[in-house]
Amino acid sequence: MQAIAPKTTLIDLQYLGYPEAIAACLLEGDGELALVDPGPTTCLATLERELAGHGIRLKDLTALLLTHIHLDHAGASGVLVRKNPRLRVYVHERGAPHLADPSKLLASAERLYGDQMQRLWGEVAPVPPENLQALRGGETLPLGGRKIAVAYTPGHAAHHVSYFDASTGIAFVGDTCGLRYPGFSIVLPLTPPPDIDLEAWQRSWEQIRAWEPERLFPTHFGPAGNVEEHLAQLAERTARWAEYARQTLEQAGSDADRASRFLQMVESELHRELPAEAVRRHLAGTAPEQCWYGLARYWRKREG
Ligand SMILES: [Zn+2]
Repeated sequence: MQAIAPKTTLIDLQYLGYPEAIAACLLEGDGELALVDPGPTTCLATLERELAGHGIRLKDLTALLLTHIHLDHAGASGVLVRKNPRLRVYVHERGAPHLADPSKLLASAERLYGDQMQRLWGEVAPVPPENLQALRGGETLPLGGRKIAVAYTPGHAAHHVSYFDASTGIAFVGDTCGLRYPGFSIVLPLTPPPDIDLEAWQRSWEQIRAWEPERLFPTHFGPAGNVEEHLAQLAERTARWAEYARQTLEQAGSDADRASRFLQMVESELHRELPAEAVRRHLAGTAPEQCWYGLARYWRKREG
């Protein structure tokens, strides 16, 4: 656990044993113990241990602020509610039904992860509807003496929201602002299927910019300053990767061939900017082949 602002603590969930892959954030105050994106169930033992080191039990948590329902962010929600039935689970209204009944979410994840589902994510339990607090964006949540602003920020996912804590200047942006590892200035887009929407994404960046945050908190991984530079680089790289994907769609071959050509383009771009060891780590974090499928689906949908 690492304090990043008053009563604001980063928790490294040590996903599959890897440090700095998935970050949760604990917000404390006035009888509230809220977690932004609790992560997948495979990280629950780490979460429990980290909280215990801070004198907090899972039963003490009061709320989950979910940016979106992808399993690396929200997979543990149902199991957490089972252990702590008073937990309030904040989520965009389009995500809420898929937490109550995760069958479609699981089917969609299975197309990407196949027989690796259990190893990567563990159990995905339903969240009872009475625990769900559906958001549309535009709300201000009073939370332990803070006011947390909510914005609807689609682009990465059609049900993505971001949260802004004006008291600390931190915007919790989930995957809307890409991936950026501590100690690196490189920002990478995350564009998995099924609902990449580049136009909506631009509007989401504008919403986040309008908060004038001092720091962004991408789930992958943790607080990132230089907000303007971050957003500018992300917009530029997203446009470039979208263009790589569009070019592959004009070429012959199967989708698997196209995805692997896209991977090569991304790989050689990263090799120009990063040492080899860092390239491997960034590729593992972004999964460029999945990014290709997300972008290809976007282009094909656009072309009707
Ligand atoms: Zn993610």
